[in-house]
Amino acid sequence: MKNILFCLLALSLIGISKPAISQNSRSQLLDSIFSKSGEVYFTFKVADKEDIHTLTRLISIDHVKGKTVHAYANKKEFSDFLRYDAVYTILPHPGTLIPENEVNARQGADRPGNRTSWNFYPTYQQYVDYMVGFAASYPGICKLDTIGTTMQGRLILAVKISKNVNQEEAEPQFLYTSSIHGDETTGYVLMLHLIDYLLTNYGVDPAITTMVNTTEICINPLANPDGTYHGGNNSVYGAVRYNANNVDLNRNFPDPKAGQHPDGNAWQVETEAWMAYAGSNHFSMSANFHGGSEVFNYPWDTWAKLAADDDWWQFVGREWADTVHVNGPAGYFTFLNNGITNGYAWYEITGGRQDYMNYWHNCREVTVEISNTKLLPVSQLLSFWNYNYRSFLNFIEEAHYGFNGIVTDTVNDQPVAAKVFINGHDIDFSEVYSRSTTGFYARPIFEGSYNVTFSAPGYYTKTIRNVSVSKWTTTNLDVQLRPLTYDSQDKSVSSVLVYPNPSDGHFKLILPENPINPSCSIQILNTLGAVIYSAEVTRFSENSTVEIAVPNLANGLYYLKFNSGYRIYLDKLIIKK
Ligand SMILES: [Zn+2]
Repeated sequence: MKNILFCLLALSLIGISKPAISQNSRSQLLDSIFSKSGEVYFTFKVADKEDIHTLTRLISIDHVKGKTVHAYANKKEFSDFLRYDAVYTILPHPGTLIPENEVNARQGADRPGNRTSWNFYPTYQQYVDYMVGFAASYPGICKLDTIGTTMQGRLILAVKISKNVNQEEAEPQFLYTSSIHGDETTGYVLMLHLIDYLLTNYGVDPAITTMVNTTEICINPLANPDGTYHGGNNSVYGAVRYNANNVDLNRNFPDPKAGQHPDGNAWQVETEAWMAYAGSNHFSMSANFHGGSEVFNYPWDTWAKLAADDDWWQFVGREWADTVHVNGPAGYFTFLNNGITNGYAWYEITGGRQDYMNYWHNCREVTVEISNTKLLPVSQLLSFWNYNYRSFLNFIEEAHYGFNGIVTDTVNDQPVAAKVFINGHDIDFSEVYSRSTTGFYARPIFEGSYNVTFSAPGYYTKTIRNVSVSKWTTTNLDVQLRPLTYDSQDKSVSSVLVYPNPSDGHFKLILPENPINPSCSIQILNTLGAVIYSAEVTRFSENSTVEIAVPNLANGLYYLKFNSGYRIYLDKLIIKK
């Protein structure tokens, strides 16, 4: 098999240029590249795009234009690649392409705590100070999270921006993350700028205020700080793609098709930190910023199957690109289908974070290639912000559209972690789940009419038919699920005194606390949890007695539920005539 592959590839790879230097000096050059940056950047041509299927498992393909491939490789990956006799051209590393002074200009001109125009690359320490400073300056709406620590001990940081930021609320959780490829730094500064923009416009700009009030926005500007600060903590000049272990983090995730370790490497500490961060959150939508191209790359990357929400992906992708076209110069963000592409249709990758998030975390994550130049001169950072920030905001807003709501238990009104599945639509884990803490779920989806099934262990499944969704609107769909069996002991504290019990349907209650609002209620439920009697208790003094008469109830076991406004109490009620 391997030999056949070898022949096919050897035949189909076409060189761009004959090596102009001798074999010896070429290997010396490679040695010096590997010892300096750990990775080589190079280009070659394929005769057939099918070859990428094999090559993408050997080396880290950066982008493909027609039949020309740009790629990175560490020493081992490159020696695997060389076994295919490909003719290639070594390129200058993107992290050192522009003069050092154009990278470092204005560095240190703005100190954390001062207003800045975000037209420079911070040093590593400045970056940390900014992130800490955001949370310290806006403690009510901004919280700092440490996602993890890199191989070299740098911090992987995120801020969470939301009203009541320390509480989990019934609202969609959204994630922006950038520069998992350490030398693709445009998104790094743009995300710092976005954090600053959201915080300083809160309470000033009504749209931003509403967005922060109703969304949990998490932003990680720098996913691979060891790569970005490969040249030292004082400059992003010399940034590299891989982590300090010379591994491409965006090929290191479990893959829906290629399994747990698609790149043959163990999960890196950065990868494990991300997996834990994704698992402890509940991201509804996400975007991961890269550089080297200008295109909105939507799922899947690993296989040709279309995503369940392919129509939605094209819709939000077009919205992103069209908005950028209005605000950017001619020719910007127009690659492939005028700025959007299906990932696999462009080129296949395995082990990417996008597919991992979508497949294993029921997220909607996209890869956004934001600038053809990976390490943008500082003089262009503000322009790229202006081209893109409206698209950043629009995409966050999309997390509210489609349908969303709260799933609760019919008996105790407590949140239920339910699966929200769209019949005849959801595939490959595109369904969403409500959170156990709040019962909230969000399902961004293309306009249309859907039959939605809510299910949870221990509950009757419920299908809501013809849920209608229009673009740029929110359809609210709160759902109550009925428990399959009903046992008061594991539901709530029981301290309502019922007497006599059993009774003939005439009994008295002594309530454990004073009702605090006029809508507190007493309900009687059958053993399936259905409400068969309900009364509001509007006014009585503490420990006073409430008389209930339900003479028509058949003999049997029932449950009594008292909602005081603060607490829900449950007790057994037996009717025996
Ligand atoms: Zn990238």
